Amino acid sequence: MTGRPPGAPREIYRIDWLPGTDILHGICHCGAEHTAQDPVLMWEWMLGHPAGHRPPRTTA
Ligand SMILES: [Zn+2]
Repeated sequence: MTGRPPGAPREIYRIDWLPGTDILHGICHCGAEHTAQDPVLMWEWMLGHPAGHRPPRTTA
């Protein structure tokens, strides 16, 4: 199962729509999670990495 085109960027973004809501749940390639109702805001957050991104396992 390889659904990615060759030369796809390393950064993997994932955005899910929470069923029954207007809320988008996004996960950045760095592991940070974010929710937003506006897809534009979600993408701004995604593309704004690392600003506002707080991966759950940051210990440094
Ligand atoms: Zn990030």
